[in-house]
Amino acid sequence: MQFERKQVAVALVLIVGALAPALARADESIGPDRFDTVVIDAGHGGDDEGARGAAGLIEKELVLDIAYRVAKRLAENGLQVILTRHDDSFVPLEKRTSIANDARADLFISIHGNATHDTKVRGIETFFLALSASDDHAGQVARRENQAFRIEDTPTRRSDDALVAIIGDLITNEHMEESNEFARLAQLELAGDPKVARGVKQAPFVVLEGVQMPAALVEIGFLTNRQDEQLLRGGAERDRIAGALVRAALEFSRRYDARRGVGSR
Ligand SMILES: [Zn+2]
Repeated sequence: MQFERKQVAVALVLIVGALAPALARADESIGPDRFDTVVIDAGHGGDDEGARGAAGLIEKELVLDIAYRVAKRLAENGLQVILTRHDDSFVPLEKRTSIANDARADLFISIHGNATHDTKVRGIETFFLALSASDDHAGQVARRENQAFRIEDTPTRRSDDALVAIIGDLITNEHMEESNEFARLAQLELAGDPKVARGVKQAPFVVLEGVQMPAALVEIGFLTNRQDEQLLRGGAERDRIAGALVRAALEFSRRYDARRGVGSR
């Protein structure tokens, strides 16, 4: 069984290798791919502060705190955890992606706080990557979260090399189904109260593009809504969110290993 898997993996590496020598590092992934590494991406940082609530809650501070809470619990469960930022520094979106890919992580979770003009809108929603948004609101969320990309001083990237771009798309699509699965598990655990459950959506987030692993972006509540902001200021809600994300990650890890014929840790 394992031998066959290796043969398939070798064949795939040969094909990919012929297409793009830059991807030759993929040969290191041969062998049982046990779920063991999670990347937690706290959105924004530095000059890019993200959304800001009427009572003063700032997205970049909120999501870093939650990232640490999630990381601590995942580590307690025996997983290796990598944070894309550890403090209030600006980390370019592609740098976040490359941190995750270099670590050959098995799951990428980007944590954000939501914002919209309608201050009545509240609740939690989870996204995974798609080239087009699943609805107008999802498109607006992606445009707002992608703004950091315009701050970055990298005028030429990606599409310079069409072949690499195409292969990047293929790799991303390969993880689409598992990204969807994790997003649904996360949304189920996070949005206990049906009144504040906004569901799983898709949109073109730069930070999820090119991530070579299942990936989702969680909007943990609206900073523009007074009730959500009040809740998110408290440790209880932050712990609840961290606990929900950890339960979703652990369930996903169990399924991930089972699908690959690897026993649980
Ligand atoms: Zn954000």
